[in-house]
Amino acid sequence: RNIAIGGGTGFIGKALTAHLVGQGCEVTLISRKKPADAQAGVRYLTWDQLKTAPDLLEGTEAIINLAGASLNQRWTPKAKQNIIESRLATVHAVAKLVQALREKPAVVVLGSAVAIYGTSLTETFREDSERRVVDFPSSVVQEWEDAADEIQGVRLVKLRTGVVLGNDGGAFPLMKLPYMLGFGGRIGSGKQWVPWIHVQDMVRLIEYCVLHPELRGPVNATAPEPVTNNRFGQTVGRIYRRPHWFPVPPFMIRAVLGELSLMLLEGQRVIPEKLLSQGFRFEYPTLEQALRQLMEEHQAD
Ligand code: NDP
Repeated sequence: RNIAIGGGTGFIGKALTAHLVGQGCEVTLISRKKPADAQAGVRYLTWDQLKTAPDLLEGTEAIINLAGASLNQRWTPKAKQNIIESRLATVHAVAKLVQALREKPAVVVLGSAVAIYGTSLTETFREDSERRVVDFPSSVVQEWEDAADEIQGVRLVKLRTGVVLGNDGGAFPLMKLPYMLGFGGRIGSGKQWVPWIHVQDMVRLIEYCVLHPELRGPVNATAPEPVTNNRFGQTVGRIYRRPHWFPVPPFMIRAVLGELSLMLLEGQRVIPEKLLSQGFRFEYPTLEQALRQLMEEHQAD
């Protein structure tokens, strides 16, 4: 299979590329510029190159787009603009590519996020739940998903992704850090939901979406057992044998992270209904299993 990945040099993209190459796929990464540390057996193209020569992707069966400026930075007006524009620009580039290709890919899988549901302590969100703009992340994700509708003539999957847990990037190394230093604890009330997923399940479900034509539209990319922030912390403490006792008051988080603190202080309980009803099997359905694997992997490094 020929698969192209936009933003494939990032945290999820790297794990996905390794998995797909291991499955014998021909992988092309689309980046802003060719990276210095090119990986053997992978083809590298740039967005600019594809503007003038989209035919370089003729024969591609699936395009996966994970590109976008990270949300994990202070949300200055300039950063906010970059967070939105990078997503709209790459989605637009994918739409143009699909339009230009003589032979269309069977599927386009796009990154999206659970923030689209807004936040709640009590509600449960499935793919057919209403979308709500309540803050900056939810407004970014709405614009991002709406822009995706410009992509026509192919099956389109929008991966409403939760907090992806891995040792090599994303939020987990930072979430774990206070525990490693001995002052881990719940954040704020601890009642906010954490819709997490293990990075290996994330990678496998992206491949599953490529292979299963029944899946289209929004797909929640989260583990079937979301937990509260307090449960999350207790589980980290138990698995890593560290104390869970130092509650961090919201004002402290806000002082350090500014608006970005929203992502730790509020959350949403999300269930991956479509994947479960299609029979996708999570390798790490519980947080306990996911964290145990991550700890063992880290120790083996
Ligand atoms: P990363 O930040 O690790 O990687 C994203 C990639 O996007 C980068 O490797 C980079 O590729 C590209 N990129 C960065 N800035 C820009 C820009 N200004 N313009 C165009 N491309 C840019 O992200 P993740 O792998 O963690 O996540 C992938 C996607 O999934 C993201 O869109 C993210 O919002 C979404 N997501 C991730 C979650 C997580 O927990 N990790 C949770 C929810 C959603 P290059 O340098 O090669 O151009």
